[in-house]
Amino acid sequence: MEKQEHICQKLQKEAYDTSIYEQAKEYAVDYVKNVYERDVIPTADAIKNLAFFEEELPQEGADSAQLLKMLHNYGSPATLAQTGGRYFGFVNGGAVPAALAAKWMSDVWDQNAVLYCASPIASTLENLCEKWLVELFGLPQGTAAGFVSGSSTATLCGLVAARNFLLKRAGYDVAKKGLFHAPEIRVVISEEAHSSVFKALSILGLGSERIEKIPADENGSIDAAKVPMLDEHTLLILQAGNVHTGAFDDFDVLCKKGKAAGAWVHIDGAFGLWAAASSRFEDVMKSMNLADSWSCDAHKTLNAPYDNGIILCRHREALLDALQMEGAYIVYSEKRDNMLTTLDMSRRARGVELWATLKALGKRGVAQLVENLHDKAQYFASSLKEKGFEVLNEVCFNQVVISVGDEAAQQSFLSGIQSSGVCWCGGSRWKGKPVVRISVCSYRTTLEDIDLSVEAFVKVRERCGN
Ligand SMILES: *Cc1c(COP(=O)(O)O)cnc(C)c1O
Repeated sequence: MEKQEHICQKLQKEAYDTSIYEQAKEYAVDYVKNVYERDVIPTADAIKNLAFFEEELPQEGADSAQLLKMLHNYGSPATLAQTGGRYFGFVNGGAVPAALAAKWMSDVWDQNAVLYCASPIASTLENLCEKWLVELFGLPQGTAAGFVSGSSTATLCGLVAARNFLLKRAGYDVAKKGLFHAPEIRVVISEEAHSSVFKALSILGLGSERIEKIPADENGSIDAAKVPMLDEHTLLILQAGNVHTGAFDDFDVLCKKGKAAGAWVHIDGAFGLWAAASSRFEDVMKSMNLADSWSCDAHKTLNAPYDNGIILCRHREALLDALQMEGAYIVYSEKRDNMLTTLDMSRRARGVELWATLKALGKRGVAQLVENLHDKAQYFASSLKEKGFEVLNEVCFNQVVISVGDEAAQQSFLSGIQSSGVCWCGGSRWKGKPVVRISVCSYRTTLEDIDLSVEAFVKVRERCGN
């Protein structure tokens, strides 16, 4: 019987032979070249072909070139064209080319961004990104940044710092004693807060029933007049960018109110915090820098590739305290140790793409990017209105919400749009109504893309017969 090659021998040969990397590059470049032209959704065949992946865990390792070919043939076609110009689902963002290319490079470096000693380049770039973001957003000097997978994690990091800080000030060390006999803290939050914020609260033992939910106005901003008296035991959670309407809470009133009362103010700015980079949004963002912590996503409005979230915290020590851990083998340095400001220890060096995105855009570029998304969303909304669609929100940022009728009408409209291949939008419920959500969040979206999409909207409406 022929002796099977040891797996390590096979891998070692490949480590010297760059042909699979060349092959991967070709496939990737092919994807980049075609993504703009292709249908936004996978074809029915592409979905059917996913069956090729269904198999038992193979006993023997596969041929690497074959495996890549399989991804190219059956994986690529089953993607949604999110980096093209006509994907308006969720709040997704495109990918700045230089940042995507930088991500490839750093993937090859395969750095562990845990500590300075494990990756000086990762620490240096994250340190720089921290400084740049503090400047870009106009946050207080000394604000700490942690680079995480997304806003859900960023919010969790911000809220654990807040919880521990408020309890510590009340004379209680929750990190040591747990929540068992902790003094009460209050959570004041908008009924329109994102579900990831409620998830973070539940993980942190702050529950969902004892919190004080405040009604929102017709565009989804918290009703500032209904926010109760705050105190130094309160965590006030605000939002920059409502996931339906793009609305901002009234930071000028509420951050000042929170600050005066000694409350901790957290802002979920997953996609809306980037408005702070543009003078166009100076009024709505006024005083947001009085908050204590901010979460945001570079993979949304900033158009950095996935996954790229950021927690920013005014009180560096509070963030570090909340996320600290010890181990005999952990070697902290005088430089930046990235693990100190996140939940993770080992992780990839996502600061590389964030740095590349910010460097490729520059301060002016970020402002222009944000303003462009706003302009395009307004154009989308007014084109739809011209065609007789009912736009439900004031387009104050990049989100547009429309109504196409009742649940059944919405469902058939959505399936028509989604299967058209022209563009992709998702559905939701807003103020009790079934709606269609449009998120303009890629630099790649042109006016022609919007015209094409509006045309598709009209056709689908005709076909649905309403
Ligand atoms: C997307 C989003 C989140 C969650 O962010 P992830 O990066 O998906 O974890 C939180 N809040 C708002 C307002 C969002 O739009």
